[in-house]
Amino acid sequence: MKTVCIYCASSELIRKSFFLATDELAKNLVAAGYQIAYGGGSRGLMGQLAESTLQSGGKIIGVIPRFMCEEEWNHNGLSELILVDTMHERKAMLAQMADAVVALPGGCGTMEELMEIITWKKLGIFTKPIVILNIEGYFDELLLMLKKAVSENFMRPEHQSMWQVVDRSDKVVEAITTALQWNSADRRWAVM
Ligand code: AMP
Repeated sequence: MKTVCIYCASSELIRKSFFLATDELAKNLVAAGYQIAYGGGSRGLMGQLAESTLQSGGKIIGVIPRFMCEEEWNHNGLSELILVDTMHERKAMLAQMADAVVALPGGCGTMEELMEIITWKKLGIFTKPIVILNIEGYFDELLLMLKKAVSENFMRPEHQSMWQVVDRSDKVVEAITTALQWNSADRRWAVM
């Protein structure tokens, strides 16, 4: 079974449309036969992702650092919960499990995870599709910054094919299946 790793917000205090997009994404991925891996949290979009996946009969695996479990931030009903020691271990394990990565709206944690996986793809140590789910333009400024990084020669134009941007949850599966193939030799573009 193929695994989609999802990065998303832990905040509860965000627009309803972000929760609806998360619900739809979970249902679409389950219907397409994917299992989901994520950070294992119970709040915000993380909690919504878990609930919607389980309700639609899908499998969802959480990977969470022990200190978060001690704070009881983990979801209790997941198909599987993997405990790790550090945030770095969590991110490495999620990336290793992933056949594709999707970023839903989120705060600094989600943005950091997204920038890290793009960085790893640039370095050829992660080669799978990365889909940015830009619900209601949430990521517009971040995408503009990435464009600026290219126009200022911090990255090459070729690097922009490392990720795809979609504006609706029902476009994610197609984005994953049609993503440009990337491989470790593409790290040659990393040298500017
Ligand atoms: P953020 O986008 O800042 O809400 O952070 C979401 C990401 O940060 C998650 O994918 C986790 O890596 C981590 N994180 C932050 N807060 C929590 C939480 N309450 N429970 C689980 N993970 C969290």
